[in-house]
Amino acid sequence: MPATLDVQSPASSLQSRAHTGVRIPVTVAHGDGIGPEIMRATLSILDAAGAPLSYEPIELGEAVYLRGATAGIEPEAWDTLRRNRVLLKAPISTPQGGGYKSLNVTLRKTLGLYANVRPAVAYAPFVHTRHPKMDVVIVRENEEDLYGGIEHRQTDEVVQCLKLISRPGCERIIRHAFEYARANGRRKVTCMTKDNIMKKTDGLFHQVFNEIAAEYPDIVNDHLIIDIGAARLADTPEMFDVIVTLNLYGDIISDIAAQVAGSVGLAPSTNIGQHAAMFEAIHGSAPQIAGQDIANPSGLLLAAVMMLVHLGQGQMAQTIHNAWLRTIEDGIHTADIFNESISHRKVGTQEFAAAVIERLGKQPLQLAPVRYSAGTAPAEPQQITYSRRTPAKKLLEGVDVFLDWRGTNPEELGNTLREAGTGALSLSMITNRGVKVWPNGMPETFCTDHWRCRFHAHVDASVTPEDVLALLKSVHAHGFDFVKTEHLYTFDGHAGYTLGQGQ
Ligand code: NAD
Repeated sequence: MPATLDVQSPASSLQSRAHTGVRIPVTVAHGDGIGPEIMRATLSILDAAGAPLSYEPIELGEAVYLRGATAGIEPEAWDTLRRNRVLLKAPISTPQGGGYKSLNVTLRKTLGLYANVRPAVAYAPFVHTRHPKMDVVIVRENEEDLYGGIEHRQTDEVVQCLKLISRPGCERIIRHAFEYARANGRRKVTCMTKDNIMKKTDGLFHQVFNEIAAEYPDIVNDHLIIDIGAARLADTPEMFDVIVTLNLYGDIISDIAAQVAGSVGLAPSTNIGQHAAMFEAIHGSAPQIAGQDIANPSGLLLAAVMMLVHLGQGQMAQTIHNAWLRTIEDGIHTADIFNESISHRKVGTQEFAAAVIERLGKQPLQLAPVRYSAGTAPAEPQQITYSRRTPAKKLLEGVDVFLDWRGTNPEELGNTLREAGTGALSLSMITNRGVKVWPNGMPETFCTDHWRCRFHAHVDASVTPEDVLALLKSVHAHGFDFVKTEHLYTFDGHAGYTLGQGQ
């Protein structure tokens, strides 16, 4: 029953190269941990099948980090990536601590790979799963959200991470999900957010989803809060078709989906942008099993199948994918999916690859064979353009001033800060970790050393940046340590900020 691993291509001049008999250059990164083993297995299958590719290796990951390149990539590697615009990448390890940035995030953002498409397909009865009909595609926003990596320690007790969501980011990924559904004959797109709590950030994603869904009346749409959505995905994945969600939720639920379908070792992913594409397994470098020849290479192999489709090599993709299905069907299984009652032979990574090679040209007998359009160029680039709208009328009406204050009594803080108010701005509220503690706080509320003090304009008065500067001077003169500010704006009369909890 498995569906094809649908790919939508941003394509490029690669299309023409794919049809001139010239080998298509692909950048390859062998990665860390199990990366080199699964890449070796994957490339051996591509070579045995005669895939018309040439490989340009680049070094990424741990060794590069440890040489002192904190980004995990050398400058020359970017030239190769920009030239070839297609990367087949094995997983890499991000060293813990030491301030190293995740190279995966850097690659996705630098190359503008805004859409991460992750199919999770059941291969029942040959791979154990409680959900034999499962066939879900998760379309994960790939550049924004908490993955901006903008984190600060602001006080002795409090650190923060900035969650940034943009309208263009939402529009691109949500449109991509609907276009993907339409192009691949899928019927439904489900949006998952936590907009009951994050009303501005997740709220924007949900609002844009509603706007764009209205343009696709042929596709059913619905929305679930991410917590119940994740629970249903684990319990009843058959109810989902395409899921579109924010970066962090998509990261988490795609691992859930892959594991529920059979194993994280089976799931591929494409990272698609308008200028480049990156193909990888969804799993990490699994250092505990590295070097033992037991890892499942299927996630990376199926990512390579998606890459071939992207490159217009549909016939080749079909041959390899069907040989892989036949191998799975013949019960030749790596340890992660081996099951005494289903499998025939437990094999290592390279032996699994050899079994796929033996079956090149064969079709699965019970699982439905896949079909990719043979020998045709990939679809035209999916140019999802963003048109800026007329900006809303933006008015400044106050400011949140965050203080590092070691006191414990919000009443004391409120009374002193009231005096720090100016003619233009007066104290209206204090919260601690988002909960209102002044005026009329509750004695039970636990307080840290991080206080958000909201100053508002007097009714109907407008506020200028000079008013904010005067307030900050006054707060400082009253002996307070302000650690950050957030301006309070209205947009076309609607508040661009949320209330404090309990306000
Ligand atoms: P992981 O995916 O590497 O491993 C999770 C579990 O799945 C482990 O039990 C592992 O043995 C198993 N597993 C993973 N792939 C398998 C395969 N192909 N065959 C059989 N079993 C497999 O996740 P982790 O342990 O959280 O992360 C390890 C490292 O990988 C970290 O350094 C992390 O930063 C990195 N990572 C990289 C990527 C990437 O490069 N795209 C993605 C996720 C994690």
